[in-house]
Amino acid sequence: MKKQITLLPGDGIGPEVVTEAVRVLDKVGNVFGHEFTYQTAAIGGTAVDQFEDPLPQQTLQSCRESDAILLGAVGGPKWDSYPAHLRPEKGLLRIRKELELFSNLRPVSIYNSLISESTIKEDVVRGIDLLIVRELTGGLYFGEPSERLDVNGEEAAVDTLSYKRSEIERIIRMAFELAELRGKKVMSVDKANVLESSRLWRQIANEIAEDFPEVTLEHMLVDNAAMQLIRNPRQFDVLVTENLFGDILSDEASMISGSLGLLPSASLSAEGPGIYEPIHGSAPDIAGKGLANPLATIASVAMMLKYAFKMEKEAEAVMSAINAALDSGVRTADLVYGNQGSVTTSEMTDAVLAYIGTEQTN
Ligand code: NAD
Repeated sequence: MKKQITLLPGDGIGPEVVTEAVRVLDKVGNVFGHEFTYQTAAIGGTAVDQFEDPLPQQTLQSCRESDAILLGAVGGPKWDSYPAHLRPEKGLLRIRKELELFSNLRPVSIYNSLISESTIKEDVVRGIDLLIVRELTGGLYFGEPSERLDVNGEEAAVDTLSYKRSEIERIIRMAFELAELRGKKVMSVDKANVLESSRLWRQIANEIAEDFPEVTLEHMLVDNAAMQLIRNPRQFDVLVTENLFGDILSDEASMISGSLGLLPSASLSAEGPGIYEPIHGSAPDIAGKGLANPLATIASVAMMLKYAFKMEKEAEAVMSAINAALDSGVRTADLVYGNQGSVTTSEMTDAVLAYIGTEQTN
């Protein structure tokens, strides 16, 4: 198969981890006989510096014309004081909106060899297999107005949390469809005891559940969900929630797996290319030092192979290679506790590459 991929390395450690993920894609192409071609485009702070726009038109064009998009991360202290429309994160929000990427899939599991290293007890995290489905193009991050105000001479600010029925329906429906293929349980997370938008969310979830008799629906308030994720994460199969709650809960869930540097994500629309990206940010504190863990981005490549290209076998090979690399004992600095030595970003990738195309992974 031939596939065209747009690379959006972005800022901070973004270019470092994307470079490594491309090495993995190339190896998969060689081993399985596919041709991946790449076009690199600017997004985030780098794009602001070059084009005075965090999402230049040519970047959007390249994304629309590709089969899938691989993103590193955007942002950094350099741009923190820039006006809102020139903030790197604005590029990310705009591309999600432009490509209608309304659903963000974040699988959370734990690699066997890291179980004993999790900051959470072994018997709590062993066997966890949870899929967080986060609404990505609505809610507080997009609601208008979002601005500074003058209220009777006092500085104030407002953000708006609003959802339309159609926005809620499509994400809840996707969660049910994914649950049908997994453990057949949906946990819808909201704040229905306080927020009107959550009460509409809950009502629609109950309506959609009637179309999926084989899937069990439960509701949980977001504050309880934050607690339950740490207390008993195995109770969850598919957890669906709105944008802000999903952002926070998925970062929390990342600690179950050991590090932010391990978790991948896919942002999908009803049709058209999706964005595959690690859930972590641009990590300016470690950028350029060869310390970044590339595994979240490499696992995002596995999601791309599976969801965008329907290459199940290839996706499996990448995930097995990550497992095998970790089993062999290699660790980037974020995974090191105590006196263990650590490897660099590209050495970790070398370890993964060594297991792609070997008998145990194919
Ligand atoms: P972050 O995820 O960048 O970093 C949090 C901590 O985790 C840091 O200590 C960092 O060193 C570590 N870390 C993150 N990824 C790692 C990896 N792959 N390997 C090893 N360690 C890793 O979050 P932050 O520090 O809150 O934000 C930094 C910048 O990233 C900000 O500008 C923020 O807006 C941006 N950000 C971007 C995205 C995105 O592009 N999707 C997401 C979150 C934050």
